[in-house]
Amino acid sequence: MIPAAPIAVQPAALPHTPVAQRWQQLWREAVRDSRELLALLGLEDAGLAISDEAAAQFPLRVPRGFVARMRHGDPNDPLLRQVLPLDAEMQPMPGFSLDAVGDGAAKAGNGVIRKYRGRALLVTTGSCAIHCRYCFRRHFPYAEETAAAGGWREAVALIAQDHDIDEVILSGGDPWSLATPKLAELTDALAGIAHLKRLRVHTRLPVVLPERVDDALLGWLRSLPWPVTVVLHANHANEFDADVDAALARLRSTGATLLNQAVLLRGVNDSVDALAELSERGLAAGVLPYYLHQLDRVQGSAHFEISDEAALRLHRELAARLSGYLVPRLVREVAGDPGKRPLQP
Ligand SMILES: *Cc1c(COP(=O)(O)O)cnc(C)c1O
Ligand code: SF4
Repeated sequence: MIPAAPIAVQPAALPHTPVAQRWQQLWREAVRDSRELLALLGLEDAGLAISDEAAAQFPLRVPRGFVARMRHGDPNDPLLRQVLPLDAEMQPMPGFSLDAVGDGAAKAGNGVIRKYRGRALLVTTGSCAIHCRYCFRRHFPYAEETAAAGGWREAVALIAQDHDIDEVILSGGDPWSLATPKLAELTDALAGIAHLKRLRVHTRLPVVLPERVDDALLGWLRSLPWPVTVVLHANHANEFDADVDAALARLRSTGATLLNQAVLLRGVNDSVDALAELSERGLAAGVLPYYLHQLDRVQGSAHFEISDEAALRLHRELAARLSGYLVPRLVREVAGDPGKRPLQP
């Protein structure tokens, strides 16, 4: 922590030791072992088909605060199911590929995905505080493709050149896994680009590690010259608790608009009750639903898939039950499409 008043006796020549922020420490303390996770939940003997092979391909990672929101002793807990590496992931399934959303083909430069009109999506980092088993990230070759490489220079140059871009979307991985000064380095460079009108951040961190929403992040958000939209990612009402509520209230205090996107996942949120509760619980925290995604068909995620017919039926029932603004748009991402495609009967 930086002391509020300058300390006169501090010799200037002392090497500067960076102090890890609290959220970074909590990040490092995440659970990374399936057996430890099961033990924490009293599920050692529950007969869950955990897979070391799946964990070797995409390691288990889940912050302890998120584990605390899982139900003790419930092998079907909807939060546990999102993170536990299972045998089912290793069964090859036709139609499930490595680059299901065509990001490989749409890449315009170093970490910049220019797929949709007016919007440039930056792959800012490959890191996430949590590893979601259904995610395309498990196969995406990040190492050489993040926009943060080289002080963001290539990404900023691409955006500056292209006057059609009025919105920059920070994505990843999770952009808020970057330290705040690194984010400021990008937005300082973008602030000089007159055709930019909006900034968007796609992040799961305020939900899975609410401590990330600290004073430095809030100060950065308040300093930005554009309207900011934060698109969160929660799939189940149980992902919200008092700490998450407080983090989202802090975010809203900066003037940011908060939206949520969820993925339809078998065994997690594939019921009208679960989806209605998710929308209502989000609203209670100041978050409006945005998208409900049909699963991207990435290898290892087939056991989460719900048929289009079932997805459409759920969505119809949800619309019949909830206020219009609590009903997310049901979409599928299709490689080469000019936007997210609404699911059609
Ligand atoms: C989803 C997505 C966007 C944003 O689309 P919206 O419909 O505006 O939310 C932009 N670029 C890429 C590559 C995307 O996948
Ligand atoms: S990118 Fe999002 S969905 Fe994928 S692992 Fe990271 S937090 Fe989870």
